[in-house]
Amino acid sequence: MKHTTHLLISTAVAIPIMANTGTLTVTSMLALSLGALAPDIDEPESYIGRRTRGVSDLIKLLFGHRGLTHTLVGLFFGMFLALLLGTYFIKDHTLIYYFILGYFLHLLEDSFSKSSIMWLYPFTEKTIHFPFYYVTGSFTEAIIGFVAMGIVYLQLTKTDYAFISDPYINFNNLTQLFDVLFNRLSRIFIR
Ligand SMILES: [Zn+2]
Repeated sequence: MKHTTHLLISTAVAIPIMANTGTLTVTSMLALSLGALAPDIDEPESYIGRRTRGVSDLIKLLFGHRGLTHTLVGLFFGMFLALLLGTYFIKDHTLIYYFILGYFLHLLEDSFSKSSIMWLYPFTEKTIHFPFYYVTGSFTEAIIGFVAMGIVYLQLTKTDYAFISDPYINFNNLTQLFDVLFNRLSRIFIR
């Protein structure tokens, strides 16, 4: 599955959860997205793999694509790492939970692909298959992504789900910063 499809489906699933728990913020979205991309770090040509060359090459070499990062063991390892780093650096468990949710959703989404994943590897190489599946990069996947995009759009426009003020990214500060920058630049260019 392409990274954009992963992001769209995971976002569509997470928005109601975030909205109903008062955690619909941009940083929650970023944490979820990071989790939704993380398992594909085992493929150097993936979106996240290209940005972590070296690490992604090593993981692919050791475990192969859709190997250990796409298993329950991988999920628990990701959970452990997120808890460890998250508790140490950001001290906000909400973001850690959304990272883990994103990771889990990625695995679930890959389970519906034709080749599926080995949830219980290294204990067994059995893959789970559903009666309906998609082929990665196919037209079906494009349609799934399109539907997910529609759902996200409807959730943000037709429901009362709304982003709440972000504890980390202060948009007022950001707009102020842009104002200052814009003023400086216009003074340089428009004399
Ligand atoms: Zn994957």
